[in-house]
Amino acid sequence: MSAHPCVGILGGGQLARMLVLSGASLGLRFRIMDTVADACAGQVAPLQVGDYRDEAALAEFAAQVDVATFDFENVPAAGAEWLAARVPVFPNPGALAVAQDRLAEKTLFGELGIPVPAFAAVATRDELERALDQVGVPCILKTRRLGYDGKGQFRIRSRDDAAAAWEALGPQAQGVGLIVEAFVPFDRELSVVAVRGRDGEFRTWPLTANWHVDGVLSTSLAPAPQVDAALAQTAVDYARRLAGRLDYVGVFALELFCREGELLANEMAPRVHNSGHWTIEGAETSQFENHLRAVLGLPLGSTAMRGHACMLNWIGKMPDARAVLEQPGGHWHDYGKQPRAGRKVGHATLRADTPQALAQALEQVGHALGRQAQVAPPLQALHPL
Ligand code: AMP
Repeated sequence: MSAHPCVGILGGGQLARMLVLSGASLGLRFRIMDTVADACAGQVAPLQVGDYRDEAALAEFAAQVDVATFDFENVPAAGAEWLAARVPVFPNPGALAVAQDRLAEKTLFGELGIPVPAFAAVATRDELERALDQVGVPCILKTRRLGYDGKGQFRIRSRDDAAAAWEALGPQAQGVGLIVEAFVPFDRELSVVAVRGRDGEFRTWPLTANWHVDGVLSTSLAPAPQVDAALAQTAVDYARRLAGRLDYVGVFALELFCREGELLANEMAPRVHNSGHWTIEGAETSQFENHLRAVLGLPLGSTAMRGHACMLNWIGKMPDARAVLEQPGGHWHDYGKQPRAGRKVGHATLRADTPQALAQALEQVGHALGRQAQVAPPLQALHPL
């Protein structure tokens, strides 16, 4: 491989953009492929517009890159496999295929002894009734594939909701498939962001606490407060088992529900993850840099934290940057996207040496931006520290 290898990224959103920005200091070159011309990573690296199923487009892409990776998991498996026959692709398409399908993923978790909420596959209206018998209510009907950020989900609070749930998602039962999952009344949501190198070296960043609004990540806090060593070790063990079984290379996130000290796996994301954005400023090596190091077969960097960090997602449109930039540990990330309802357009990370200093910064930013509701959960979590 050349001294300045070219990394190809399928998908050109903010994750690709942050991979490019972190890879620049390593002397890497990039080529992005996306289906749309205004993909925001195209502002920082050459962008090829093409369909991931188009072999001519994939061939053009493959000819330019030394290694390929993903910024989103819904690249069709056939396209990923076609590419993998021509250039090294990390994570491997088999791992991607498992993570694309909630049923395959939950089945694998079960095989690995990783606890999951009760679940059942659904292909017909009758099967939905049988699944409700088996799983119970409340539960959630989800598409098996192509769901993200809470999309493709219908909450079933009582059996009376079954008809409405089928009306909403039934048409997708034959295409992407459906799954019913028991609703978990979790105390909190945690994630482990992990990286595995080509040589099998495995590292995790400290456990992160996450808060979602309408199924979309709103806020992350690291390290997750009030996590005892045994719980953290269990989460790391689950991630390690998963990575080993999938022969995974690169960064991934394992999303977990925590209830009364027990962990249940929700899903894995086979890529750098929104709950790891704080690592850019809050860790010795960011998830983006370590993902690139992993796919290139370079030594992995330390995942140790620098103090405490809180990430606030900006959804829909960017707020005024000033309140964050005024903070000593305030960092601003604008993805260069057009504002649109529900769209992740940027984030801020507040970093501080102590929980108290982080709480103070959060309070000030929340107040200045009128986002008390968004900063309330991390403030509450930091409060006893
Ligand atoms: P997902 O797309 O599966 O990650 O779901 C997005 C968010 O919806 C999760 O982070 C949870 O906040 C919520 N959610 C999803 N599945 C469940 C479940 N089985 N029980 C409770 N909440 C859930």
